[in-house]
Amino acid sequence: MTSQPLILLVEDEAEIRRFVRSALEAEGYRVHESQQCERALIDAASRRPELVLLDLGLPDADGMVFLRRFRAWSQAPVIVLSARSDEPAKVGALDLGADDYLSKPFGVAELLARVRAALRRGKTGEHGSIVRFGEVLVDMGRRSVEKGGMPVHLTLMEYRLLELLARNAGALLSHRRLLQELWGPNALDNPHYLRVYMGRLRHKLEEQPARPRHLLTESGAGYRLVS
Ligand code: CA
Repeated sequence: MTSQPLILLVEDEAEIRRFVRSALEAEGYRVHESQQCERALIDAASRRPELVLLDLGLPDADGMVFLRRFRAWSQAPVIVLSARSDEPAKVGALDLGADDYLSKPFGVAELLARVRAALRRGKTGEHGSIVRFGEVLVDMGRRSVEKGGMPVHLTLMEYRLLELLARNAGALLSHRRLLQELWGPNALDNPHYLRVYMGRLRHKLEEQPARPRHLLTESGAGYRLVS
């Protein structure tokens, strides 16, 4: 059992802790609970979880405080559990290095799917150099893209956007992070760059560019590559 991934659950609401713990343990994951931000930082440092589920509204501090301090030394995936329906909190968490978020209330199937995806990313990390979705194969070692076995020509910027999404397959990448990484800090006011390049990628890679199944828009938040 000890080889099962350890998940740190940072949440002050007992009802949600019970729900999440039973869902995760039923799948064989190990779960450790922390109810406060400071305690969670100590537990994270001593137990080295493979994944963190983080509530943003904690009694002693904002979950963002945990995220900022945890990211200073760990790259383990973090999924934010947010009761806040406002986009800024979620986007802010993504900018601080959260991998994904779940809006409360969420169901067992959605929780487990996100956990599996985040753990998969945590394991492959930078080493997983081939990503497939639909008919498309992205080989990041060779910097080549194929669709249905035929090479696809992408411009340098199209390729860089695709590679960034592919390296984080399954994760939601915020507009801010994409703009910053691809065009630099001066591009943060130009989210239309992303719309243009996502449109081109969909045209070249999706079966139905107007109804994408893999290169998805998360309204108001960012983009996600789903394989
Ligand atoms: Ca809370």
